[in-house]
Amino acid sequence: MSSTTRETGTVTKPATRHTAVAAGESRLTGTTANARSDSAPVLAIVVPCLNEELVIGDTVRRLCEVLQKLSAAGKVDAESFVYLVDDGSRDRTWAVVEELHALDARVKGLKLVRNVGTQNALLAGLLGVKEHADCVVTIDADLQQDEAVIETFLEKYRAGAHIVYGVRRGRGDSYLKKATSGFFYNLMRLMGAKIIKHHSEYRLVSRQAIDAISEYREYNLFLRGIFVDIGYQSEIVPFTVRRRGAGKSKHDFRKLASLALDGITSFSIVPLRLVTVAGMLVFLFSVLMTLFYLYHKIKGHTPPGWAGTIIPIYFLGGVQIMFLGIVGEYIGKIYQETKARPRYIKDTELF
Ligand code: UDP
Ligand code: MG
Repeated sequence: MSSTTRETGTVTKPATRHTAVAAGESRLTGTTANARSDSAPVLAIVVPCLNEELVIGDTVRRLCEVLQKLSAAGKVDAESFVYLVDDGSRDRTWAVVEELHALDARVKGLKLVRNVGTQNALLAGLLGVKEHADCVVTIDADLQQDEAVIETFLEKYRAGAHIVYGVRRGRGDSYLKKATSGFFYNLMRLMGAKIIKHHSEYRLVSRQAIDAISEYREYNLFLRGIFVDIGYQSEIVPFTVRRRGAGKSKHDFRKLASLALDGITSFSIVPLRLVTVAGMLVFLFSVLMTLFYLYHKIKGHTPPGWAGTIIPIYFLGGVQIMFLGIVGEYIGKIYQETKARPRYIKDTELF
C-alpha cells in the first residue's frame, strides 16, 4: 500500500502536499494561507537530552532568553516553556533539570525510564506537551542549531504553516560527520524514504500536526519522514549550524546507520524490489552461461569444468544470503510492529 494514499484514522488530510524544496529557499507549499488569529501562541521547546549535563544549563538559559524576547514582543504567550526530555541519561542530566525547574517554572521536564533513542525521546516530548501548547519547536540539547530562527519559524506558523522545517546552511561539524550524514542522507533519498534535504530534527509543528502523528501507531516512527507524510502546509527556513559546545556527539556511526535503515525500511520497499530485479538478472545471467556451455559442448571443445562449477556456487550463495538479509530486515520490522510495545515509558514528569 502506498503511503500517499494511506488513511490516517480520524485525521483529516488537507489536499495540499509538501513538494521538495531545495535548501535555502523558503516558500509556501499550500495553496491557501490560513493566517492564524492575533492571540500569541503558547510555544513549547522540546529538547531531547542524553548525557548532556555539560551543556543543558547554558542551553536552557539561551532558550529562556529567546522565550523572554518573543514574549516581550508579543509573539508568544507568557506561558511558553522549555521541556527537557531525559532519554535515560547516566550522568547528572536529570539532577540539573530538577535544579533548573526549581529556579524557573518555565523549565519543565520528563524523565524516561531508559534510553529509547532520539526519535522516541522526541515523540515522548511532542506527545507530552501537546495539551499545553499551540505549537512546538524541537531542538538539540547541544544547541548546534541557531535558536534565533525560532522567531522566523513563528512568523511562518502565524502565517498558517503547520510544519516549519529548519534546513542546514553549511555546518560546523567535522569532515567525517559531514561525510557520514551526507552518505546516509543520499542513500535514504535513493531508496525512496521521504525526507527534506538538509533537515534533521529542528522544526516547528502545530498542535494539529502532533495530533496527526499520534495517529501513526507504528513502533518504528521516523519523525522526519512522518511529518512530510502528513501533508500539512509546510515551510522551509534555513539556519546555520554551530559546533557542539561541550560533550560529544551521541550519534555515532552505529546510531546513524540504524536511523538510516529505519528511515528506509519504514518508508520504502525499494530494497525489496531491488532484490527481485537482482534475482532476475542473476537468473538471466545463469541462463546465458548455460547456453554458452551447451554451445561449446555441442561443438566438442568442452571447457574445463572447475571454474564453471565453483564460481556460480559462490556467486549465487553470496547473492542469496545477502538478499535473505534484506528480506529479514523487513520481517524484523513486522515482528517489532506486531508486538506493539510502548515506544517509551515515562518515569517522572516535572510540570
Ligand atoms: N539524543 C537522545 N538520545 C539518544 C541520542 C541522542 O536524546 O539516544 C539527543 C542528544 O542529547 C542531543 C540530540 O539528541 O540533544 C542530538 O544528538 P547529538 O548532538 O549527540 O548528535 P549529532 O548532533 O551529532 O547528530
Ligand atoms: Mg549535535
